[in-house]
Amino acid sequence: MKLLFAAAEGSPFVKTGGLADVIGALPQALRQSGADARVILPKYKVIPKAFSESMTYLTHIEVPMGWRSCYCGVFKLELDGIPTYFLDNEYFFGARSGIYGHGDDEERFAFFNRAVLEILPHIGFQPDIIHSHDWHTGMIAPMLHKHYRHNPYYQSIKTVFTIHNLQYQGVFSYSILGDLLGLDDSYFQPGGVEFKGGVSFIKGGINYSDQVTTVSRTYAREIQTEYYGEGLDGALRSLGNRLSGIVNGIDQESYNPATDPNLSYPYRSSLDAKRLNKIALQRELGLEERGDVPLIGMVGRLTGQKGLDLVERILFELMEQDDVQLVVLGSGDPRFEQLFEDAAGRYVRKLAVQIKFDEGLARRIYASSDLFLMPSRFEPCGLSQLIAMRYGSIPIVRETGGLNDTVQSYNEFTGEGNGFSFTNYNAHDMLHTIRRALRFYTESDHWGRLAHNAMGGDYSWSRSADEYYALYARLTDVPVKEIG
Ligand code: ADP
Repeated sequence: MKLLFAAAEGSPFVKTGGLADVIGALPQALRQSGADARVILPKYKVIPKAFSESMTYLTHIEVPMGWRSCYCGVFKLELDGIPTYFLDNEYFFGARSGIYGHGDDEERFAFFNRAVLEILPHIGFQPDIIHSHDWHTGMIAPMLHKHYRHNPYYQSIKTVFTIHNLQYQGVFSYSILGDLLGLDDSYFQPGGVEFKGGVSFIKGGINYSDQVTTVSRTYAREIQTEYYGEGLDGALRSLGNRLSGIVNGIDQESYNPATDPNLSYPYRSSLDAKRLNKIALQRELGLEERGDVPLIGMVGRLTGQKGLDLVERILFELMEQDDVQLVVLGSGDPRFEQLFEDAAGRYVRKLAVQIKFDEGLARRIYASSDLFLMPSRFEPCGLSQLIAMRYGSIPIVRETGGLNDTVQSYNEFTGEGNGFSFTNYNAHDMLHTIRRALRFYTESDHWGRLAHNAMGGDYSWSRSADEYYALYARLTDVPVKEIG
């Protein structure tokens, strides 16, 4: 089984969120199942030198882009057994800081999508499946359909498209249809790439791929409803069984509190060691140094998706009335950055906020916190709650998407459950749930059981990789593998 993963980001080369974690880990897990899984990414300036300087130059080609053609250099690096190709164009990727949010993203990713297809014969890799991820690679399937189906080299290639977040759709003006993508008007219809008068990259992935997946079963169900569907619920409903949900895992070797070099006190399952980490973090961030106070962590993009307006509504109540500390790491919407910065100024020894992206600090927060708050409005899968559980930080989540599929609310009578959850998108339901968790924090029997359940869970990729493998096998002639 030959698989090519095409995406806009992938760990450890370039990461802004969970997508990178998936691209960094799933190919590894599939390789262990015997697949030849490879990755293809843009060659961004932000890729650390240690990687870019170890890449091997393979070749260069001209990529057709509407009426013109653009240079594309092809580099390769094999890391931990996964061959990764990097597509180089100085103007689109090599000379810019950041990876998204440029005024010409449609052109940059149209180029990348076309280049992924165009280089295949030049790198001698004929995949059975091209697996694309999120809007940035949504036009691979329609361009394969339009430009390459007549070419025998491409005829048997199947396509899978995974939605990691339906909110980001890549919708641009009609003019890109022919100018950048080389598609004709037959593609510009609601069952094609048309969306509200524009051209939608994500619709390209949804409507032209052989199979569409998303990253949890609950999210797969939710996005077929108007509330979660972001205007695409009809298109998604019409896929029928061409749409399915497979939950993400995490790289349990990388996210391992026993070996994580970012921690002051590595641990396997000891709550005493977690407490030492907590005191170290309190010192690092200027909080009151107290091992006994429950510490709530939050790590993630500071956007409306993450339920921060709920936090906003109860933050002062929580800070004023409860013996608790809060640490927030993230960046995003200035409104929420300001909210937490103001609150940190007011509750100096109780609340710490760091507005930045910092992988090491994120891991120290997972390790040091007792509770991890993630009250998302919607959450396709969510990796942070999985990492938190792995590090023994008990998640408090809203029952949506992957949070619903991975966190079971604690049942004090049976001792089952690995976190706390609430159903309605309501600030006081959340506060009530936080306080329920704080009550159990003071009861060491309950807390020990919760920590045991959370840290003992299997968040590895292996089961999900088996599900992906079975899906690929259904689409191709490669025999189905036993799942077990
Ligand atoms: P999303 O993909 O919606 O951003 P996920 O929970 O799926 O959310 O994945 C987020 C990933 O990014 C996790 O690995 C999390 O630890 C990491 N992350 C998010 N924000 C930060 C930050 N400010 N600093 C370090 N890591 C972060």
